[in-house]
Amino acid sequence: MSGIATALKQVRHRIATACADAGRDPAGVRLLAVSKTFAASTLCEAHAAGQCAFGENYVQEGVTKMAALAGLRDQIQWHCIGPLQSNKTRLVAEQFDWVHSLDRLKTAQRLSAQRPAQLPPLQVCLQVNVDAGANKSGATPDEALALAREVAALPRLALRGLMAIPEPAPDFQTQRGLFLRATCLYEQIRAEGIALDTLSMGMSDDLEAAISAGATMVRIGRAIFGARTPASASALITPIL
Ligand SMILES: *Cc1c(COP(=O)(O)O)cnc(C)c1O
Repeated sequence: MSGIATALKQVRHRIATACADAGRDPAGVRLLAVSKTFAASTLCEAHAAGQCAFGENYVQEGVTKMAALAGLRDQIQWHCIGPLQSNKTRLVAEQFDWVHSLDRLKTAQRLSAQRPAQLPPLQVCLQVNVDAGANKSGATPDEALALAREVAALPRLALRGLMAIPEPAPDFQTQRGLFLRATCLYEQIRAEGIALDTLSMGMSDDLEAAISAGATMVRIGRAIFGARTPASASALITPIL
């Protein structure tokens, strides 16, 4: 088994254990492999080990890998999880399946207008800033409901849920408490009649706390691919496949 296949198996095991501890069905937690800085050949290995959803932070980097893996396009879901610059929305609308980092109406309107008619609607999560971290992206909890209503009404977007990246906390309970703020917001928006099914939260160091708080999708990078290094980043410019 390749190193990636072994690591994926371990991460799936962590997810299953966290679900068992939380009394949750593991089928209710999807695994997004965060592949930023890793080469398309590495993603290909993960795909061969059964992984079909990949998250990329940088639009151009993601699009380059999509081109390298074009033969697998129907089998892979590409998620854009990094901050969205307004001059990059067209590439995102044209190439990605999902966006997790939507945090303002203007960007949502651009994505909806730019989503090609022959593709399914772009699946989106609103990024929410639940710990009011200074200079962090994300809508504030006060803004989230109004933004959700507006985004849900856009024709070429399908609003799926919320994404949160709370600051790392020193212990499980504190981390869980931060994730629960996102869960509360998610439930409040659902209670207003807006259908959401995705709560994207939890990374390599805190997936257990996120699952215990109700995450339905965890975004895992280092625990699958190893540490991100300048070497992993430079592998991107070597020819692939
Ligand atoms: C890099 C990144 C991740 C993955 O983080 P790891 O700690 O490597 O698991 C998840 N979400 C976002 C938004 C990221 O930028």
